[in-house]
Amino acid sequence: MNAPDQAVDVRVEPAAASGPPAADTGQGADSWALRVDLAAAFRMAARLGWQEAVANHFSVALRRAGGEFLINPRWRSFASLRASDLLLLPAPGPADTIPPEIDRTAWAIHGTMHAQLPRARCILHVHPTYATVLSCLRDATLRPIDQTSARFFRRVAIDRDYGGMADNAAEGLRLTRALGDRNVLLMGNHGVLVVGDTVAEAFDALYHVERACQTLVLAYSTGQPVVTLSDEVAESTARCWEDGGAFARAHFAAIKQRLDIEEPGYAH
Ligand SMILES: [Zn+2]
Repeated sequence: MNAPDQAVDVRVEPAAASGPPAADTGQGADSWALRVDLAAAFRMAARLGWQEAVANHFSVALRRAGGEFLINPRWRSFASLRASDLLLLPAPGPADTIPPEIDRTAWAIHGTMHAQLPRARCILHVHPTYATVLSCLRDATLRPIDQTSARFFRRVAIDRDYGGMADNAAEGLRLTRALGDRNVLLMGNHGVLVVGDTVAEAFDALYHVERACQTLVLAYSTGQPVVTLSDEVAESTARCWEDGGAFARAHFAAIKQRLDIEEPGYAH
């Protein structure tokens, strides 16, 4: 996939400066709505301090069947990304080279996952402080100690085989397998990756993963023994969170309302 002597056979479509771009993918307003949602996710992630300098990536496939996906261009701050800045790329085939507009690790992780795992329509990968701290502990289990952490009871995959920068298709495939049928992958000694059917659902899950990790890490840091919920209570609490995405949609709508007032440029 990374052969340097092969022509770049990918399409990168710049969008219009604002509004639904006429030359978009034939998805029209739906495609533009995805751009706006992903841009909102970047802006709020910046506010929450999740981005590692100008690294890390969020992506969303235009269709549930996978294929073409939107992603942030290489080395840009989440804080200034606009809907029209996002790249539209095809999911990579085995002979494709890395488009110059995208970071190698983004192509390896997001490109591979969009090609191999269509159910992961939206993929968010960052190194937020508390999830990353938990990922570095010998026991990286996201223990259910309150109702937020209980949401993820037995629902987090943990990768223990970090092998350096994820800059090749093999690493993307390995991470895809490590995620399995879960929606959250705690990437050992690295960070976290969350997938969802919509940007709203993935963002809401990532938000609560980081909140849960914050509570757990701070609880550990007191030095006092931490009380874990019983399996029965943890499981019943986790099921209470499963509402078909209604809470996530309300959460994300509130985020966009706030951005619409405070930094409306994200939607341009
Ligand atoms: Zn990373």
